[in-house]
Amino acid sequence: MDRLIALPAEFDAIGVRAENPGPFSLTGTNSWIVGRDPAWLVDPGPALEAHLVAVTAEIDSRGGLAGIALTHDHHDHNESVPQILERFPGTPVAGARGPVDIRLAEGDRFGPLEAIATPGHAPDHLAYISGRLALTGDAVLGEGSVFIAPDPGALSSYLAALERLRRRDLGALAPGHGPVVLDPAAKLSQYIAHRLDRERHLLVALDAGLRTVDELLDAAWPVAPGRRPACLAGRLAKPGLRRRSAARAWPRATARLPARARPSAASRRPRRRCRRSP
Ligand SMILES: [Zn+2]
Repeated sequence: MDRLIALPAEFDAIGVRAENPGPFSLTGTNSWIVGRDPAWLVDPGPALEAHLVAVTAEIDSRGGLAGIALTHDHHDHNESVPQILERFPGTPVAGARGPVDIRLAEGDRFGPLEAIATPGHAPDHLAYISGRLALTGDAVLGEGSVFIAPDPGALSSYLAALERLRRRDLGALAPGHGPVVLDPAAKLSQYIAHRLDRERHLLVALDAGLRTVDELLDAAWPVAPGRRPACLAGRLAKPGLRRRSAARAWPRATARLPARARPSAASRRPRRRCRRSP
């Protein structure tokens, strides 16, 4: 049975949680209905009949549907677009990619929704801000941490996006999975601190002379050996981190070695990209 997710009245929005629980969807995908007369739908969710019935009922009670906004095109968020369009024909669909009517990017407006580029989980993931409410899709979840795709630079872009969200005056986060977050600044700070903590582990490991991606990821993710986040490998290749580590680690780590035993420039770089996911 679908569950409605209440928000404080000031946000004039409601969530409907789908019955698609799983390791990545947590308790299920959240669809969010924002405003009224007419309302706007963020992420219609999976094509499950009970979910569609609940979403449709909420939209009807709010005076119809003006637009459908997608945070990203993973099927647990967008699968039911055709069924929603059957119920509300002609409704424009907006998102960053895929078969949408309106293509959105950072700062674009779609009705009351402002698109915020939040790459990381998907390269063109969008969050939306309406008033003081941020609809964060899979950029920030209600619990746990987010899977970041192993694209080059994904983690750095993701951290920058979290910072941009943290600078906004937000009163609540409505995530794609998990419960509502009523202290956005604390949650965003926790997310940023979690990622930077892993980075500090990497710098310590570099100082200790570890060099291969496997060694470095084992050091940075000691609680989950063999389940290392693929995105960290991309972060390791970032010039900023290399400069910081080079200034600290390479000279000290190699000074004690005879010249022929020192790692070559090529061997200092991560040898391969880690493709394992968390
Ligand atoms: Zn999702």
